Amino acid sequence: MHRSELIGQLNNLLHPEFFKDYAPNGLQVQGKTEIRRIVTAVSATQNVIDRAIELQADALLVHHGWFWKNENPTVTGTKYKRLKSILSTDMNLIAYHLPLDAHETLGNNAQMAKLLKATNVCGGQEGSFVWSGTIEPRSVRDLANFLSRALNRQALVLGDESLIVSRLAWCSGAAEDFFESAIAMGAQTYISGEATERTTHMARESGVPFLVCGHHATERLGIQALGIWIKENLALECVFVDDDNPI
Ligand SMILES: [Zn+2]
Repeated sequence: MHRSELIGQLNNLLHPEFFKDYAPNGLQVQGKTEIRRIVTAVSATQNVIDRAIELQADALLVHHGWFWKNENPTVTGTKYKRLKSILSTDMNLIAYHLPLDAHETLGNNAQMAKLLKATNVCGGQEGSFVWSGTIEPRSVRDLANFLSRALNRQALVLGDESLIVSRLAWCSGAAEDFFESAIAMGAQTYISGEATERTTHMARESGVPFLVCGHHATERLGIQALGIWIKENLALECVFVDDDNPI
């Protein structure tokens, strides 16, 4: 498939034009025009690039690409090495950030709803990335154990793990700043990827536990779902490469 056709298909699916993002969505680094094999990954790290080169990928498709707002704009250090590797093999780098958090079926948060088997799911409303839904009542400890197994990453529980809960809110990645709005929405537990020291106090004092499930672990979901969509709908080879990250 021609590169521009692939990008057109992905843009049609993910609608980056609806998002004010922190990095460019779509083609970030131009490579060869004909695409047969794609490697997908959460982040475009050196390990992922090296593996994609071994697999002779024509494109690397990720959730976390490069060229973030406020990053050092010079091509030096690790950025130089990554760019050199990708340019020297003529591999395309394609990234979708917020559009892949928010997509109504393939996105990280939609995939979390599926994993939780949540009902009454509400998500992706204008301006909010927080999703909510209901599960069968279970203890926070039990829910944390389930998510640890399902996401292959030990969940950290902030707050009272003995509570029995059914109304959940979640947002993948680094979304602790939405904790307060999740509490205001009536969530009995909030699930996200990362937390900082102050989050523990809010979880204890609000009576709403926060499950820290890993930024990387919660964002493996969307990019893998997108890879499956590409295989099924565009008939391209797609291989997911996991460069694990404890955060
Ligand atoms: Zn992220």
